[in-house]
Amino acid sequence: MKYYIISKNDFISKRVKQQIIKKLPYEYSSDHPDIVFSLGGDGTFLKAIHRFPEALFFGIHTGHLGFYSNYGIEDVSSLLDDIIAKKYFENKLPLLTCKVYAKEEMQFNALNEVTLICPPRTLILDVEINNVFLEEFRGTGVCISTPTGSTAYNKSLGGAILDHSLDAFQLTEIAGINSTYYETLSSPLIISKNNKISLSAGSIYKNVFLTVDNMSVNLVDFKKMDVTFANKYVRIASNKNILFIDRIKRSFLQNSKKNKFERKK
Ligand code: NAP
Repeated sequence: MKYYIISKNDFISKRVKQQIIKKLPYEYSSDHPDIVFSLGGDGTFLKAIHRFPEALFFGIHTGHLGFYSNYGIEDVSSLLDDIIAKKYFENKLPLLTCKVYAKEEMQFNALNEVTLICPPRTLILDVEINNVFLEEFRGTGVCISTPTGSTAYNKSLGGAILDHSLDAFQLTEIAGINSTYYETLSSPLIISKNNKISLSAGSIYKNVFLTVDNMSVNLVDFKKMDVTFANKYVRIASNKNILFIDRIKRSFLQNSKKNKFERKK
């Protein structure tokens, strides 16, 4: 059994890293580790899954509770015992696959989202669902997110938060233009997992940015992108069921009256 740790560079994360290395009786190696610990927040988790897509992940939040961390620093000691005793269960987080046809053909998997953007110019895209034309989009770009990614960039764009157990993905506009001449749906569109979203270049200007979670690629001569549910998952471990609604409250509603009341109790 081999394990590796991807850690944020802060004091607490570094201390937890040393605690794990001291206690876990397995080989510490970046060469195809079976287990990867992510110490930090959701951003750290994204880095970890893109580096080691085949591993089983243990997300430990060393700051606020995130959407990809099932353990806190107070759990570390018992977690290590549980790993040795194999007392944990695995969940599967869905990924999106995006196939890009540009000067070069490329393929990526995303845990949060993919976006296609062109901040300096109006991006014109033909949007199709399962090869059926939906609309001609004009604006800055579009974001396509997973259920677990729905609380990230998608939420800032006015997209809906999706329950993680839903097998669905979401298309959200980034500053779509709406006038008497141009029209877009203007609301997030949530579709089930067996669908395909295709975006084709409608404008002459074809240099656009693709983002895949925390990565970005400059696409030259962009033609088309197809986004589907991937047939791969990210494997994440857990030993307790943190209520989805609690994660949402702890992430986004710290200042609401009810939460203040709960903190005082
Ligand atoms: P980052 O600093 O690692 O992440 C940006 C913020 O997004 C952090 O606060 C991170 O939480 C949070 N985050 C990431 N995944 C999340 C999730 N599934 N649910 C809720 N919050 C989440 O920056 P980065 O390296 O560029 O990360 C890329 C991610 O940032 C993208 O996948 C995108 O979703 C997000 N992003 C958001 C905006 C926006 O909201 N306007 C713009 C660009 C990118 P932690 O503090 O726990 O790490």
